[in-house]
Amino acid sequence: MATIFSKIVAGEIPCYKVAETEHCFAFLDINPVVRGHVLCIPKKEVDYIFDLDDELFTELHLFAKRVAKGLKKVCPCIKIGEAVVGIDVPHVHIHLMPLNKPGDLNFSHHVEMTPEELKNLAAEIASAIE
Ligand code: 5GP
Repeated sequence: MATIFSKIVAGEIPCYKVAETEHCFAFLDINPVVRGHVLCIPKKEVDYIFDLDDELFTELHLFAKRVAKGLKKVCPCIKIGEAVVGIDVPHVHIHLMPLNKPGDLNFSHHVEMTPEELKNLAAEIASAIE
């Protein structure tokens, strides 16, 4: 069965998209830990990041780097943090999060954002990605 992220890539489930290439896709996390929490995924459905072949592993990280640079222009922060968990959704994803203090990368904390705010933020990030 297709993962929820494959359904997002296929357009069957809506998302706040920020970037797309032939093999990769990036969108806002629906339950953001911080404002600007982005997920970068390969379109190919693979559960565990270290099972990706070298080429796609590298491509995904270069894609995440490009997205992070755009994200940093839009969301004021000291650094963009990166995390890979993958316990909830069995489809490789890199979490990108604007960080201003060590405790910002805390999955038990979430920020409230309205659909309108998420939509506007996604558009801003999308235009900042080169
Ligand atoms: P993990 O698998 O790394 O533990 O976490 C999965 C992440 O995917 C969570 O941060 C969760 O909020 C996010 N997520 C789960 N379902 C959806 C969805 O349907 N849309 C979006 N945009 N994010 C989702």
